[in-house]
Amino acid sequence: MTRRLGPGSLVIATHNAGKLKEIAALLEPYGLKCLSAGSLGLPEPAETGTTFVQNALLKAHAAAEASGIVALADDSGLAVEALGGRPGVYTADWAERQWFEGSAGRDWFMAMGKVEGMLQERGPDVSRAAAFHCVLALAWPDGESAVYEGRAPGSLTWPPRGKLGFGYDPVFVPEGMQRTFAELEPEEKHRISHRADAFAKLVAEQFG
Ligand code: IMP
Repeated sequence: MTRRLGPGSLVIATHNAGKLKEIAALLEPYGLKCLSAGSLGLPEPAETGTTFVQNALLKAHAAAEASGIVALADDSGLAVEALGGRPGVYTADWAERQWFEGSAGRDWFMAMGKVEGMLQERGPDVSRAAAFHCVLALAWPDGESAVYEGRAPGSLTWPPRGKLGFGYDPVFVPEGMQRTFAELEPEEKHRISHRADAFAKLVAEQFG
């Protein structure tokens, strides 16, 4: 039987203000006050895991231990079938521009091009199936944890289309749709996204 969250505070193990806002809004109706790892001065652990589950657990456990309160962490990314699940946990790293001194930062067009180049190298009949994954991990200060895995299946298109969303959204067409994630209104994307799937599982088990 999975441990349940009681009313009180929850630390969100992210230093990303956008993610904190989104998660806090989702959990507020359940009487949880969300605090950010940044506001508590918690360190950001290195994401050394090789799976989404490992990285989400690593971040949640580190925040719970350091703060003494229950922590929630997430890890997400894109897994491309023909590339053996890559970029996977390295999804953000593939967008990192490192080779020009002074121009560090994330370049999503470059990252999408890299994935596309690798697919094209495999020939015209290559499978374009891909899925976004999101893992949410809860960790209690005594070391107990719970994990919720969400998935949004789809396929990759080229060239990129759409101006909404972020990351790899312009090349990802969700299953059963014609438009890319970047051509969907945020509410539409949030109904079918990997994050929505993982949250629905968390809410069903924790508050259902
Ligand atoms: P993290 O979960 O913050 O480590 O981020 C993983 C990376 O996966 C992000 O930087 C994005 O590039 C990518 N990613 C995760 N979710 C989405 C999404 O909904 N759309 C596009 N890219 C995403």
